[in-house]
Amino acid sequence: MGISVGIDLGTSNSVVATVWDGQAVVLADAEGRSVHPSVVAFGYGNSVVVGAPARQQLAYAPDNTIFSAKRLIGRRFGSEEVDRIRRSVSWGVAEGPRGDARVRVQGKVYAVQEISAHVLSHMKTIAEQATGQTVDGAVITVPAYFNDQQRQATRDAADIAGLKCLRIINEPTAAALAYGYGQGHRQHIAVYDLGGGTFDISILRLDDELFEVVSTAGDTFLGGDDFDIVICDHLLAEFKAQTGIDATENRAARAKLLDASERTKRALSKVPAVAVKVPGLARDESGNAVGLSTTLDHNIIQRLAMPLVQRTFSVVDEALAQANLTAHQVDAVLLVGGMTRFPLIRQAVNHYFGKDPLDHLNPDQVVAQGAAIQAWNLTSFTDAPDAVLLDVTPQTLGVRTVGGFVEPVVERNTPIPTSLTKVFHTAQDLQNEVRIQVFQGESRMAADNELLGEFVLSGLRAAPRGEVKVDVTFALDADGIVTVQATDRETGRAVDMTIEASSNLTHEEVEEMRFDEIGF
Ligand code: AMP
Repeated sequence: MGISVGIDLGTSNSVVATVWDGQAVVLADAEGRSVHPSVVAFGYGNSVVVGAPARQQLAYAPDNTIFSAKRLIGRRFGSEEVDRIRRSVSWGVAEGPRGDARVRVQGKVYAVQEISAHVLSHMKTIAEQATGQTVDGAVITVPAYFNDQQRQATRDAADIAGLKCLRIINEPTAAALAYGYGQGHRQHIAVYDLGGGTFDISILRLDDELFEVVSTAGDTFLGGDDFDIVICDHLLAEFKAQTGIDATENRAARAKLLDASERTKRALSKVPAVAVKVPGLARDESGNAVGLSTTLDHNIIQRLAMPLVQRTFSVVDEALAQANLTAHQVDAVLLVGGMTRFPLIRQAVNHYFGKDPLDHLNPDQVVAQGAAIQAWNLTSFTDAPDAVLLDVTPQTLGVRTVGGFVEPVVERNTPIPTSLTKVFHTAQDLQNEVRIQVFQGESRMAADNELLGEFVLSGLRAAPRGEVKVDVTFALDADGIVTVQATDRETGRAVDMTIEASSNLTHEEVEEMRFDEIGF
């Protein structure tokens, strides 16, 4: 019998852990690395490299090196988010057969699930090499805001990698498990997660082995990258002040400064001031290469970064309001994500919540550790108590009605699993069928939300409008996967749809992509 693992499949980095002798331990690769870049590099022929070696290829083969692919998962080509992502990555984005966004590399188009599958497969190999055992199954974490399609796409990625997905759980819930499992806590905690590209906050209630998410909120375009950008803009202004050269539109100079900004930001987590020297940024009028030499200290960084830090706390305000709690009623604050190592964030957490964040947990590893605990819980036969995870749906689910509006059926932050029904009427005289279009998102306008799927209930009695009634029931399972059923009240006839069916890969496509069948 093999082991089960927890995998934090992150946008920038991934981590794998397992429970060993009752402890959740992070598994390192042969070089001792426990955090692995979620980077997949394509080389000659069919060769694929994943993790740290792939990250090294980024500088000299940016077109063939895929990073941050997770940002595309479950998203439509042509959507505003995908356009934003396209502008920030060096690799190509293409349209898939059903309008989904895919990755284009070396003239081939790959589903994002295939890229994630390479990362998952890499994690599985690391775990097998570290333990000498086979990996039988994994609990994989996703951001709390992930919608149905994104969760399903993550499952598909596991399938493609030949990895049994035991459960998909939310990252903050996993972090809470790593903190509280077996500790007998009775308290409210906040999980503040600031990673490379996104910010998330979740409020949970812990009651012994019960982990209940009370509310969750986030910003999918706010993370460490934005801190790098404000520092980079400051350095560009410094460069202009020193040399008179405006390098804002110089892509190579910007890339160098962005890299320097990220390194400076990390260094400033440890020391009060850092000398920044970037040679050969641009050429002056006489053709001589000129560089930048300046100093950044905590005061400057505080001024530059404060607006971003404040943006995270307005999201925290929202989550606390939804949970009906004040900041001081939160008993403990857990930090997740590399950016939370930044001292300014820790200070701001202290000011806001009136207490220091917990510091005995590693912000890069805590999610994978929690996932490992849940994997062990689901597969082991010990007397240890099972953790009960009660999650909420991160976004409102509803049905499109006349005029392009959405009628919500399951409101955001509703505990799952759940099943809720709403009655809809026909909108026109003699209407003998209804098209049920299922949307996810917070806008009252359908066009601003994500279409999850649609189906038709036909054979309705031809009657004046409003007379025929249809029950629409939304059921959400523990993985957050949605099933929608429409029932004609007069005949009892029903049609249902698992939103799974609308995920952007078909079952056959997943089968075809499976690594074991194509010999990776
Ligand atoms: P994650 O997505 O959780 O891996 O977080 C990655 C982000 O954390 C990137 O923006 C990094 O620059 C940032 N980061 C990692 N370590 C540090 C550190 N020691 N100080 C400041 N930022 C960091």
